[in-house]
Amino acid sequence: MGTWLATIRFPDGTERYAHYSTVVESTYNPLYPEVCRIGGILPSGDECHRDEPVGEPLPYDRDAPLSPIGELVLVAVAHQPDDDVWHALYCPGGGRLVGPLSGHYRYRMQEEYDLIRDGDGVRHLCHWARPPAVCGAEPAGERLGLYFPSVGVYWGAETDGPYPESPPAPDMFAEWNAPDICRPCLLTWLLEPDPAVAPEPQPEQPSTWWTRVKRAWQG
Ligand SMILES: [Zn+2]
Repeated sequence: MGTWLATIRFPDGTERYAHYSTVVESTYNPLYPEVCRIGGILPSGDECHRDEPVGEPLPYDRDAPLSPIGELVLVAVAHQPDDDVWHALYCPGGGRLVGPLSGHYRYRMQEEYDLIRDGDGVRHLCHWARPPAVCGAEPAGERLGLYFPSVGVYWGAETDGPYPESPPAPDMFAEWNAPDICRPCLLTWLLEPDPAVAPEPQPEQPSTWWTRVKRAWQG
């Protein structure tokens, strides 16, 4: 637990550094130009016991308007101690990491969204796996299989036996530069909170699973 080093890799090979909190699972702006490794000497004169960003924080403006969508830069973020790597967007205008600020976004996206192709072959992100897409489009193609709701969504369903294991959650922002991904969908997902729409009610309620648990509690 605590604060760890996050390394941000830019397409030209440049590395920047930031703080990552494993308490709230988030990377923090601003970015730093340098890193002090374990065993090195910190600017304070103390020995460095955990890799950490050092140097003058790079200029950043949280209130600067977001750069045009085509100018956002796809970066790879890795944080210690587990070296989890995911892709995120960097805004050159504000000098800030826009997000996702944690690799956990992959699971959240997988639990609530699917990709659906439109007539031009573009993949859109659709909440609860149905149109309209996050960008407002109405794709009518097949669901592409990202959607894998968590156990909670199954609670209302008639489910016996163990819950299915989630497949690995893909890093959708890694596809930012793919020609068939809808960038407005990804960016809107990142910037705007989810609309308050619940999944469709399931036909069988309460579930046998729930009934069993309730009986166990009452027994
Ligand atoms: Zn879209």
